[in-house]
Amino acid sequence: MRTGEPFRIKMVEPLPITTRAQREEAIAAAGYNTFLLPSGVVGIDLLTDSGTTAMSDRQWSAMMLGDEAYAGARSFDHLVTAVQDTYGFPYVVPTHQGRGAEHLISRILISPGQYVPGNMYFTTTRAHQELAGGTFVDVVIDEAHDPAALHPFKGNVDIAKFERLIADVGADQIAYINVALTVNLAGGQPVSMANLRAVREVCDRHGILMWSDATRLAENAFFIQEREPGYAETSCADIVREMLSHFDGLTMSGKKDAMVNIGGFLAMRSADILTKARELVVLFEGMPTYGGLAGRDLEAMAVGLREAVDDHYLANRIGQVRYLGEQLAEAGVPIVQPIGGHAVFLDAAAFLAHLSQDDLPAQALAAALYVESGVRSMERGIVSAGRNPDGTNRHPKLELVRLTIPRRVYTDRHMDAVADAVIELWHRRHRIPGLRFTYEPSTLRFFTSRFEPLPVTVPTH
Ligand SMILES: *Cc1c(COP(=O)(O)O)cnc(C)c1O
Repeated sequence: MRTGEPFRIKMVEPLPITTRAQREEAIAAAGYNTFLLPSGVVGIDLLTDSGTTAMSDRQWSAMMLGDEAYAGARSFDHLVTAVQDTYGFPYVVPTHQGRGAEHLISRILISPGQYVPGNMYFTTTRAHQELAGGTFVDVVIDEAHDPAALHPFKGNVDIAKFERLIADVGADQIAYINVALTVNLAGGQPVSMANLRAVREVCDRHGILMWSDATRLAENAFFIQEREPGYAETSCADIVREMLSHFDGLTMSGKKDAMVNIGGFLAMRSADILTKARELVVLFEGMPTYGGLAGRDLEAMAVGLREAVDDHYLANRIGQVRYLGEQLAEAGVPIVQPIGGHAVFLDAAAFLAHLSQDDLPAQALAAALYVESGVRSMERGIVSAGRNPDGTNRHPKLELVRLTIPRRVYTDRHMDAVADAVIELWHRRHRIPGLRFTYEPSTLRFFTSRFEPLPVTVPTH
């Protein structure tokens, strides 16, 4: 039997409705880059799930109770209590968003020259590790880099790779291990509880700190409940606490699994690390009781932390991502498998097989999808990968378009509309032209590059 969404809608925001002619004009004006489209011409916006969450009535009402005192606000106490209850860490330092927490912990724990192993890199996380003089080392299992591998826990740490690194450089040259829950760049792929236990065991044996990028931990808990023997009857809230019991601390982006539009924090067990974090947060973010946020933001996050680990919410959230992905897979559209926690990834290299990677297939597909339907997606391929230090283009293994589902924002009928648009494009894929750069900035080029279509080549077969 089918069940409906575990919420009802109390306030609506009209979607912009556009014609194909308007969208053709808009994408040309945006240089065929979906990041440069004004949101007023975007219908269903699947650019990102970061900070795009719909808050609940309880969060909005909590915001009215925000204590805006400069120091010692009771809103801070509410956040600390929520983190203690849901995550089990005694100490919390708020930051303006996830990268603020990454900045502080990288400065505190990394000495220049040290290594930071992790289960695949994330853009801002690695940037802050490098800024602090550290070197990121990828210790994720090989399956994470293969879009077709059907491993249930594709985000797992490869224990042998981790131990080899320790043997090669020495435990004292490892600042800490950073375990992401789930792994965003692998397609929202989870880590198993057994793997966390194994990582902890290695860390204990060598005296290495075990830290988490916990940005999407509630989604990770759902996959453990669904796939790992022994957890089917355990609530996601209990699984989250058990997962985190293995860690020394975490960085959190409130814009994902804390269900708010802005915010983040550091949480930890060590009073010594807390003292250092409080010293730095005053310099870079704000007083240790607000860390760059308003009292109302702390209140909204305190409520969101509890809502994010609710079993019904999570089943609906991940069910919706899967609902979209399965429609595409059934129609033969090539997507990354298994379908992850927050997004469906189109395999643009297979979708636009008539283009070479230098014709920017994922960028071209994202632009074509917008023109077809008003749906905005994001390129994750050669454009996002950027250039090598010698100036040549990096050619990543994965050439993907990400359809990211914001939390509690769209209904399943919106997902039907997205599926119809992608499937329609799939049938006309041979007519989609590649793109070439007309403007390319020197760093993080995917945000602001501009493109133009290549001449259409009609296939002979
Ligand atoms: C979004 C994200 C971050 C950074 O968080 P911000 O709030 O955007 O600064 C870090 N790690 C992962 C896995 C993320 O998805």
